[in-house]
Amino acid sequence: MVTTSVELRAPVERWKAEWADLYNEVVTTRLCTGCAACVIACPHDVLGYDAGGTFRPFHLEEELGPGGCSHGLRGCTSCTRACPRFRSWESEADSFLFGRVRQPEEQAGVARTTLLARSTDPELLEKGQDGGVVSAILIWCLEHDRIDAALISGLEGDGSGWRAVPGVARNREEVLAGAGSRYTYSASTLAYAEAVAGGAERLALVGMGCQASAPAVMKARKAGKVGRRLALSIGLMCSKTFDDAIFDEFFDARYGIARKDIAKINIKGVFQIWCRDGSYHEVPLKEGHAWTREGCKSCPDFAAEHADISAGGIGAFSDWTLTVVRTELGQEVIDAMVSDGALEVRPGGDDPGALALMDRLSSVSRRRWPVAAASEPRLGLPVTKSS
Ligand SMILES: Cc1cc2nc3c(=O)[nH]c(=O)nc-3n(C[C@H](O)[C@H](O)[C@H](O)COP(=O)(O)OP(=O)(O)OC[C@H]3O[C@@H](n4cnc5c(N)ncnc54)[C@H](O)[C@@H]3O)c2cc1C
Ligand code: SF4
Ligand code: SF4
Repeated sequence: MVTTSVELRAPVERWKAEWADLYNEVVTTRLCTGCAACVIACPHDVLGYDAGGTFRPFHLEEELGPGGCSHGLRGCTSCTRACPRFRSWESEADSFLFGRVRQPEEQAGVARTTLLARSTDPELLEKGQDGGVVSAILIWCLEHDRIDAALISGLEGDGSGWRAVPGVARNREEVLAGAGSRYTYSASTLAYAEAVAGGAERLALVGMGCQASAPAVMKARKAGKVGRRLALSIGLMCSKTFDDAIFDEFFDARYGIARKDIAKINIKGVFQIWCRDGSYHEVPLKEGHAWTREGCKSCPDFAAEHADISAGGIGAFSDWTLTVVRTELGQEVIDAMVSDGALEVRPGGDDPGALALMDRLSSVSRRRWPVAAASEPRLGLPVTKSS
């Protein structure tokens, strides 16, 4: 049996939910992904964020305890309006972006078209994780006055510590410095303040699905100017991120691969690790699951379902990016880049295995969403005894 309908809720007349509701329903219930959307949406700057361990927001004022906010008591609702895991986030973002909710068979989210794409720029192809598409989009949008800056992830210092940190890219060099994938968590949203302080008004956000849903959720719930500034959302397909400890406790302790020696990591059924000395290693992915980051364990979104454009590396062609175009804006950007010669594309149907795997991995992630939470993310999953 398959669930076929979404429970309809009465329209919310006035949004009253505040920090206490977010704390009780998301932060302390394992639904929180650590996307930091609530932190950047807070107009009173009273939310802190633990970037070094739990990747969770916390309240900076102590008077009312961790779950209390004096501004919330006076009617501030910005944090709950921004959170892409609060209550009916999936159907609200779907309705805002697509004018309808996801259907049961759309496990990977609503899409206009799915392509295989790659940059035509040799440097982007070399530095990009797969086809360099994400970097190509950012550079094209910056150079064609579509955005002022991009919120991305980079590596701390000279990169040898493999610590992913949020960063701002305003030009080709800064985009290239962030190209490639880090499999530990980095909330690109947190680069928002730096970008705005530098005068940027139109921002692209690059992040995993948990972050890529934030702009649509913020706009759907009228969270204010933070949402309006997030003009383009580029999502990375993602089953999980890992705790930073995976480098020392697993790669190094078990396989003798020190983090400072690693040049590139990819995940294609195994951890593929290229080292600076030219050596190549394959490490079993299953053994690494013990270092799965806590915030990923309930996440239902593999395919970055609320991005304008989602990008992934699964499939038979390693130097192409599996590219899901979801919105009119995403379509317009991809079409313009193709006619400019910045992107080469072919139909997603050229790799039917990749499309099937994307759907399967999307269902696998959806099964993690707790039965007791809002029902929409589990739409289309077989109803099990436990649900
Ligand atoms: C943590 C993680 C898990 C992923 N898991 C999968 C998966 O299971 N299956 C799959 O098909 N694809 C997965 N991807 C996506 C894949 O690795 C590529 O990012 C995607 O195919 C785009 O490749 P590209 O060459 O077009 O991007 P590039 O041109 O290399 O650009 C990549 C962009 O991603 C940003 N980025 C890199 N690391 C992070 C990070 N930790 N947090 C936020 N932003 C980051 C960079 O700043 C850069 O802008 C994952 C990516 C990440 C970061
Ligand atoms: S999921 Fe994101 S927006 Fe929601 S509480 Fe966690 S960090 Fe904040
Ligand atoms: S699995 Fe990926 S998209 Fe989901 S919470 Fe983890 S990092 Fe975010």
